[in-house]
Amino acid sequence: MKLIPTIGLEVHVQLNTKSKMFCSCDNNAQDKKPNTTVCPICLGMPGTLPTPNKGAIKYAIMLGKYLGGEIAQRTKFDRKHYFYPDLPKGYQISQYDEPVVKGGRVSVGDLSVSLERIHLEEDAGKLTHPKGKGYSLVDLNRAGTPLVEIVTKPEITSPAQAKEFLQYLRLIVRYLGISNGDMEKGHLRCDANVSVRALQKPQSSSAPVGELGTPVEIKNLNSFLMVERALNYEIKRQSVLLQNGEKVTKETRGWDDDKGVTFSQRTKEFAPDYRYFPEPDIPCLYNLEKSFKVTLPESMEAKLNRARKCNVAQNDLEVIFRDDELLKLFDKISLEKNNKACVAKAMNIFINIPAARALKPGFVLDLARSLISGKIGAHNTKPIINEGLSTHSSFAKIIEDGGYGVAIEEENLDATIRSVIEKNAKVVADYRAGKKEALQYLLGQVMRETKGKADPRVIHNLLQKAL
Ligand SMILES: [Zn+2]
Repeated sequence: MKLIPTIGLEVHVQLNTKSKMFCSCDNNAQDKKPNTTVCPICLGMPGTLPTPNKGAIKYAIMLGKYLGGEIAQRTKFDRKHYFYPDLPKGYQISQYDEPVVKGGRVSVGDLSVSLERIHLEEDAGKLTHPKGKGYSLVDLNRAGTPLVEIVTKPEITSPAQAKEFLQYLRLIVRYLGISNGDMEKGHLRCDANVSVRALQKPQSSSAPVGELGTPVEIKNLNSFLMVERALNYEIKRQSVLLQNGEKVTKETRGWDDDKGVTFSQRTKEFAPDYRYFPEPDIPCLYNLEKSFKVTLPESMEAKLNRARKCNVAQNDLEVIFRDDELLKLFDKISLEKNNKACVAKAMNIFINIPAARALKPGFVLDLARSLISGKIGAHNTKPIINEGLSTHSSFAKIIEDGGYGVAIEEENLDATIRSVIEKNAKVVADYRAGKKEALQYLLGQVMRETKGKADPRVIHNLLQKAL
């Protein structure tokens, strides 16, 4: 019996707004002392009133529009009740039946996953349990941090796809600038619903083909690797149960990363009743698209196409699209009428020599152009950049003054190469006897003779030919 898994994800993304979801507290609690970025509102004091953060609503609309979802005409907030020591109000303000965004789709390569919804909510605080102590500690700095929850339809069919989906989603939220998307810091957290089913029922059967199996929810997966491992384990566990004729129980399970297993947390009978009801202190919001004029940046795909037209190498592309600073530099130089080959080379310099990012883009483009034409040798790239940074001189002046320019042309190297070969008969013999590293010594000699003004790659080729 061939079994295939079906996976749905609920992803929580922390938004990087200045203030929290319903108060003006600092939303960046990184490296802050516990319980210092708090106020009566996010501490849940009686009598306080929440005010929704416009920036967070805007970010949710932005994400929804980017993913092709339908932005609500009317949206509201609801209270979701549960008791936990890190939730001072005894309820979380979330969205129940009228989310900011309905539908949408995430497509990457061959993978295309439709979304159920995107809604806004506030995060809870954080508990720590010191080892060997009879108490727990609570830090409410995180309480009230704005989150968007992205809920997919159960359309993912492997743990690898789930990982790919998450990685791409992280790229999008970073690209839109709405979250830092750092999984290690908890900016992106994920719950997964997973079930397995038979691929095909026998033809004679009247049972519906492709019916979903009993779903099990795995909570709190905090890294891409964890998502993949937990899903692999859970799919195997459910498959073994079904193959032995047993049933899968509908339940919520946790993931033990050390042991590499999922474990039961609660079954359906103990599923919490959240007693949702509309948040009475926040009015409904209407006409979101009109009230929040959100303009989307150029789509990531369009930018990718532009980069491909410039022949930016695939490895470089992956680095550029994960780095805000590089993306901005790419925009700056690729939207102007620059030689496409120079754009690709300049981006390669920005990636490999990060210090170059502090130079004027025009400087680096000039450098790229001279490298491509062979006017200067690759070995001079770093010295020229360093000089540009320390002297703030123009590229042309540095080349002139520093003597970097006018590399010795290929045809003028012949004499030097011949004389080096004559002077080093033993090394040449070693090379011809198969000692390949002898060539490096000869190359060094030619470099010395030419005072570093020739391109080592050219010398290398000429030496190989001459020998
Ligand atoms: Zn606050």
